[in-house]
Amino acid sequence: IIEVIDVKKSYFLGGVEVPILHDINLKVQEGEFLAIMGPSGSGKSTLMNLIGFLDRPTEGKIIIKGLDINKLSDKEVARLRGLEIGFIFQTFNLIPRLTALENVELPTYANSRSGVNTHERAKELLRLVGLEDRMHHKPGELSGGQSQRVAIARALINDPAILLADEPTGNLDSKTGCEILNIFKKLNEDGRTIVMITHDPEIAGYADRIVFLKDGIIQSNAE
Ligand code: ATP
Ligand code: MG
Repeated sequence: IIEVIDVKKSYFLGGVEVPILHDINLKVQEGEFLAIMGPSGSGKSTLMNLIGFLDRPTEGKIIIKGLDINKLSDKEVARLRGLEIGFIFQTFNLIPRLTALENVELPTYANSRSGVNTHERAKELLRLVGLEDRMHHKPGELSGGQSQRVAIARALINDPAILLADEPTGNLDSKTGCEILNIFKKLNEDGRTIVMITHDPEIAGYADRIVFLKDGIIQSNAE
C-alpha cells in the first residue's frame, strides 16, 4: 500500500545542500503495522512527512495505493492526503479555539466522503477513544493523553486506509502510552495500515515489524 523507492531527501540551508535521507527503500503491505525506530536526527520525521505527502522527495518515488506522488497535481495530493492518510503529530496540533468535537470534524471541511454524517462520525470516534464526556472541552482543558486521543479521532474522521503516527506516545506516561497503543492495535486488526515512529522499544513491540533508520539509511527488514 506504501512503496518508497530509491528516495533521497536533502534540505538546503543557506544555499548548502544537506542530505538527510540517502537511499530509502521501504514497502509496507496493506494491513501491516510497522514501527520505525532510530536515533534523534536520523530522518524519521522527514521520511514520515514524505510518506504523508506533506513534502516531496528530492529524488526517488513514493507510491501510495498505486499512485505516484510525482505524477499528481497539488490538488490531487491534497485530496489523497485528506481521504486516505490520517496523520498524528507528536505535538497533537489541535486548534485551541475549537472544542474536541470541532477539532475532530475539522478535516471534513476540506475533504469528506460522500454519504457520511461527519458530525455523528466525529462523536462515534470520540466514544471509541474514550472521550465521550469531553467532546465539548477545548484542548486547553484536556490532558496530554486526552489531547492525543482527540488527535487520533481527528486522523480517523475520513476513514483513511493508512494511519501515520510520529511519536504518538512521546509526551505520555507509559500507562497512557499503552492505552493509545491498544487503540492502534484494534484499528490495525480492523484492517488499517499503520506506520508509527517511536524511540521506545516497548511501544515498538506492538508493531508486526520494526525497521531502523540510521544516518539516512534503513538498516534492516525493509521488505
Ligand atoms: P527526532 O527523533 O529527534 O524527532 P528525526 O529522526 O525525526 O529526529 P528529522 O526531524 O527527520 O529527525 O530530522 C532529520 C535531520 O533533518 C535533522 O538533522 C534536522 O536538523 C534536519 N531537518 C529537519 N527538517 C528540516 C528543515 N525543514 N530544514 C532543514 N533541515 C531540517
Ligand atoms: Mg522526529
